Amino acid sequence: SVPLAFFSGIGAGSKKGILFKGGIALENLKAVKTVVMDKTGTITKGNFVVQTILPAGTASEQEILQIAAACETASTHPIGISIVSAAKDQKLVIEKPAEIEEISGKGIHARLSQGEVLCGNRKLLTEFNVDCGAYDENGAVTTVYISVNGKLAGTIQIADTIKPEAKDAIRSLKSMGIRSAMLTGDGEAAAEAVAAEVGIDNVYAKLLPADKLEILQKLRAENGSAMFVGDGINDAPVLAGADVGAAMGSGADAAIEAADVVFMTSSMDAISEAIKIARSTGAISN
Ligand code: ADP
Ligand code: MG
Repeated sequence: SVPLAFFSGIGAGSKKGILFKGGIALENLKAVKTVVMDKTGTITKGNFVVQTILPAGTASEQEILQIAAACETASTHPIGISIVSAAKDQKLVIEKPAEIEEISGKGIHARLSQGEVLCGNRKLLTEFNVDCGAYDENGAVTTVYISVNGKLAGTIQIADTIKPEAKDAIRSLKSMGIRSAMLTGDGEAAAEAVAAEVGIDNVYAKLLPADKLEILQKLRAENGSAMFVGDGINDAPVLAGADVGAAMGSGADAAIEAADVVFMTSSMDAISEAIKIARSTGAISN
């Protein structure tokens, strides 16, 4: 028989910038009990701006920014882009690293004229036995740590902005009986601050891309069918592993490939819209 309901759902979605990849995506969306979201680029805009630079040793603020920018020249991560852009704004000369390695969910390991350099989160520096000291992280700010030859040179505080519709979007999900969870590779302080402001039920911080899939599976075992929404940067495994994977905004190609639903918009309103459309779409038979 002709799957009319299926076509009406697809049509309603496309009007709102929501692309369902087939009837299975609509069917699976109906059953969603938990929406699991990435923080950066999904709940926040992902437009990071360098706020402050705090030297920890003899290097100046400018030198710290210069070292960090050299590490991040090739990075497509929003944090890396903001650091390079701050250095360019200050017209700093950015060295081309002799060696460079991007460690997913952690940061950059590079060789510069100063020596061996790290630029990333506490987890990265700790792994290389660098003492991060008493730098307290607080508020919705992400701290990037920079070390040179095994010693902390300083930190860069980078702020992101919560999307204006985020709080209402989470409230809508709650009114539909859906639990919300946020996963992030960012530190606990930044994660908790964002979750509290937006009203997210469960928060998980300091995660690696592989941990995200594990937590999604735990939430699914506890509460039933789980949808994951992310921009796809470092998120392809969890996107593919969810009952419904949704790629948001101008997601990476790999994310669009792995997703069941693609949001052409970066508005969080699309999440509850998609589930409402699925719920109002009749049984699909073909
Ligand atoms: P999220 O879960 O917030 O999308 P990611 O998995 O992309 O985060 O990255 C997790 C954390 O790893 C970031 O919050 C940051 O601390 C660190 N990180 C990742 N990539 C970089 C980079 N290129 N430069 C500096 N830090 C990075
Ligand atoms: Mg991400």
